[in-house]
Amino acid sequence: MKLDTRAIHAGQPVDAETGAVVPGIQPSTTFARTDNESGFFYTRCGNPNRTQLETCLASLEGGKAAAAFASGMAAIMTALQALDPGDHVIAPDDLYFGVRNLHRELFTRWGLAITTVDMSDLDAVRAAVQPRTRMLWIETPSNPLVKVADVEALATIAREAGALACCDNTWATPVLQQPLALGCDLVMHSCTKYLGGHSDVLGGALISAEDSEYFARVRAIQEEGGAVPSPFDCWLVLRGVQTLPVRLRAQCATAARLAATLDAHPAVEVVHYPGLASHAGHAIAARQMAQFGAMLSFCVRGGEAEAMQVADGLSLIPHATSLGGTHTLIEHRASVEGEGSMAPANLLRLSVGLEHVDDLSDDLVGVLDRLLSG
Ligand SMILES: *Cc1c(COP(=O)(O)O)cnc(C)c1O
Repeated sequence: MKLDTRAIHAGQPVDAETGAVVPGIQPSTTFARTDNESGFFYTRCGNPNRTQLETCLASLEGGKAAAAFASGMAAIMTALQALDPGDHVIAPDDLYFGVRNLHRELFTRWGLAITTVDMSDLDAVRAAVQPRTRMLWIETPSNPLVKVADVEALATIAREAGALACCDNTWATPVLQQPLALGCDLVMHSCTKYLGGHSDVLGGALISAEDSEYFARVRAIQEEGGAVPSPFDCWLVLRGVQTLPVRLRAQCATAARLAATLDAHPAVEVVHYPGLASHAGHAIAARQMAQFGAMLSFCVRGGEAEAMQVADGLSLIPHATSLGGTHTLIEHRASVEGEGSMAPANLLRLSVGLEHVDDLSDDLVGVLDRLLSG
């Protein structure tokens, strides 16, 4: 079956007992041990809604197994905790700032070493490999510079180094990019973003190409560590996943139009969008992504003051964090990320939602025109 169909049917059969087409929510924390062949016994260790979500996500990413978490960060935390103290991880220099903070505040003390490199420079990645390198962390397109990394080439470097390749596929989603098919061992998602898709649920997931020993450790941390999503959260994410393919295609089309509009505006210095032929990662993105995504960032002529004027001067688009929902959102990343941020002071990140492109364009062009006229 095609991905669009699997998004609606994988892990979500018609209920045998009631005929319900939509899965019910199972809130019970405990399951009777007698006459119970379901395998469920306590909801931290497994729940019907979580199994439905994990089955669907494994199918969409082409993996053998998936584990759902209470947030994207809980999924990342687990992926790193499943390594050993003393192990070494290579990560992008514009790594999601939450992971940067996690490393600084927690994993340094825990003894996990992380080297950050520019992942568009494959020689730099090869040079960063150490004897204890066990994981290559890939994030593409990246946040907030929307840089594109060559997933297949990076997965090859990881394999040659005896390390796992893990791709944070939050921005691309399985609709646009299939990291496991490109050679990765693991995919990570913040389900809070496109998978949930409506900015109303927090969640995370890890999907594995194999039922490996490493993934057994992931599963143990999920069940014993307990950072699991509630049955209702699983249900909400799965409901979002059903419309993921159509939402994303519409959002990509709008993003491409807005990128071109912003690129042509005299108050804009540069637009970072892989769909633009001028983008450094355009050719790689064209090869490894079905479409160019619905995330873009742009630099306003001037500095932080001008960028803030734009972010706070829009009438339709809220100045707010997060991405992947129905609402278009704009955000000044440098002030959010703080110390160590790769975001220039005049950069704004745009998560393109599902509003009509003309209304979004009017809002953006209006505020940029006002900036020019002083
Ligand atoms: C949001 C996000 C995360 C973290 O996920 P949470 O659900 O907020 O914990 C990780 N990686 C990327 C790329 C994200 O956008």
